[in-house]
Amino acid sequence: MKQKVIIFSAPSGSGKSTIVKYLLSKYPFLEFSVSATSRAPRGLEKDGVDYYFFTPERFRELVAQDAFVEYEEVYPGSFYGTLKSEVERIWKKGHTIVFDIDVKGGVNLKRIFGDKALSVFIKPPSIQELERRLIGRGTDSAEAIAKRVGKAAEELTYEDRFDRVLINDNLEVAFKEASDIVEDFIGR
Ligand code: 5GP
Repeated sequence: MKQKVIIFSAPSGSGKSTIVKYLLSKYPFLEFSVSATSRAPRGLEKDGVDYYFFTPERFRELVAQDAFVEYEEVYPGSFYGTLKSEVERIWKKGHTIVFDIDVKGGVNLKRIFGDKALSVFIKPPSIQELERRLIGRGTDSAEAIAKRVGKAAEELTYEDRFDRVLINDNLEVAFKEASDIVEDFIGR
C-alpha cells in the first residue's frame, strides 16, 4: 500500500468542511489527520478528535524534539501543527491521510509530501457568492464578513499552486467531482 496524502484547502465559506466530511464517510480508506494545537479546547471539542491539545510549554518541547512534520503560529501565541506520529499512525493502517487546512498550510504540506500528495483547492463560484453565503450563515458581523471577504480574495490567488481545483457551486456536483478526484488519485 502506497503512502498517500490528500490536502484540501479553501478560503473560508467555500464549503470545504462539508465536502471533506462527505468524502471521509464515503471512503473508509481515508482518514482525517488530527492536528496538534497549543490553544485551549472550545465548546465540545475533544482531545484526540478535534485536535491534540497541548500546553504552550509542551508544544514547544515537541518542536524542540523535532516531532512535527510542520507547524505554524497561526494566531499570535497559538501554535498549530501536524505531528510525525499522526502521519505514521494513519499510514500504518494503510489509510490515505486527509488534511483540511488553510491555503498557506496546504501549499506547505504539498511541498513537504511532494509526489505522495494531491492538493485540492476548493473554490467558491465567486467572491460575491462567498459574501452572500457568509451573510446567509448569520454568524458574523458586517465588519467580520468584510474582513473574511478581503482575506478570501487574497487566498483565491493561491489557486495556481494546487494540483486540482474544485468549484463548489452546486453541492451535489461538487460531491461527485470530489469523489472522482479521490478515485483518480487512489487509482481505483
Ligand atoms: P481554529 O479555528 O481551529 O482555532 O484554527 C484553525 C486555523 O488553524 C485554521 O486556519 C487552520 O487551517 C489552522 N490549522 C489547523 N491545523 C493546522 C496544522 O496542523 N498546521 C497549520 N499550519 N495550520 C493548522
